[in-house]
Amino acid sequence: MFGIKLENVTRRFDNVLALDRINLEVEAGEFFFLLGPSGCGKTTLLRILAGFDQPESGRVFFDERDVTAVPPHERNTGMVFQNYALWPHMTVWKNVEYGLTMRNMPQHERDQKVKRALEMVQMSGYAERSPNQLSGGQQQRVALARALVIEPGVVLLDEPLSNLDARLRLEMREQLQDLQRTLDVTMIYVTHDQKEALAMGARIAVMQMGKVAQIGTPREVYRQPLTRFVADFIGEINLISGEIKSVESDEVAATTDVGDIRGQAGHEGIQVGDRVLCAIRPEAMDFLSDEAGAADNVIFGRVRRAIYLGEVEQFFVELASGDQIKLIKYGAIPQHVQPGDEVRLGFSQVVMLRDEAEDRDEAV
Ligand code: ATP
Repeated sequence: MFGIKLENVTRRFDNVLALDRINLEVEAGEFFFLLGPSGCGKTTLLRILAGFDQPESGRVFFDERDVTAVPPHERNTGMVFQNYALWPHMTVWKNVEYGLTMRNMPQHERDQKVKRALEMVQMSGYAERSPNQLSGGQQQRVALARALVIEPGVVLLDEPLSNLDARLRLEMREQLQDLQRTLDVTMIYVTHDQKEALAMGARIAVMQMGKVAQIGTPREVYRQPLTRFVADFIGEINLISGEIKSVESDEVAATTDVGDIRGQAGHEGIQVGDRVLCAIRPEAMDFLSDEAGAADNVIFGRVRRAIYLGEVEQFFVELASGDQIKLIKYGAIPQHVQPGDEVRLGFSQVVMLRDEAEDRDEAV
């Protein structure tokens, strides 16, 4: 198992900058996620790690070893693809054994390793089947065994669960996590599914148009997004525009059309007068009782829509500014909250993000 370091990795396809000076460090044994929308460069980065593609500039290290120009078969990486990519004419056993055969490993060693790999993914009983006699989840487990059997230094997974149905996906998430912990192997997992990354990742790199927008633990990227893009991509977010009126060491305050809002600075160097977006998650908002008076982080609005979804209820509330915000409530809802009602909302956990629209205006 090894750690990975990328230094200024850049890859261009004609006029598309697929990766733009990526710097990244993944620790040995870490379960690391590359998360981002379609086309942000995730697969290109994974292919560069596997050696299937070369960066135009920049370097890739596995521990201290510079592998930028090392061919795939000399890198000791295991790869798992979205479409499983099993050989249809070979049995499950032969599929898993293939990488060992290519390495000219003696038969008895191969037998032991294949047996163990199939046990790890709970597929021992299926060794003689061909891939088309397996369900999607079973095929993906065989693909995983095939990647693990060579005892790779890092396992690279490209959207491995996206072809599975919702229930199986949840099951496989848990199994993969358990396996990663038991084997203590470095895993890099590409996905566009933020729930998958939040649920499984030790750390996540959120990618946007060939760049890393933020790296952090699931809690950090969810609770302290650095940009509007990250806040939006990683979950739902309410954004209220404002202007910074005071900056203290642990808190900043902004004036907005709907009252003063206090929160945390989302970036360094925030100053009085800066235009910001006050970012608040829908579940961080609450209905306040009628007695609550005007105060910071209290805003008024009218409920426009309520959607009952079983364990949660969603409310869309129109503010005096005309903006509509969303609340998510778990459990019992105060009786008085119905469409048409005037409500007071209170909230904590506000992050003040740079208003990128403002930056663009200034640049024009
Ligand atoms: P998805 O989630 O849809 O797989 P991705 O984040 O993995 O997307 P990449 O496949 O890495 O994105 O692609 C990044 C950008 O590079 C895209 O704009 C894509 O069109 C472009 N690209 C990738 N491979 C090639 C190629 N071989 N030739 C030309 N352009 C490419």
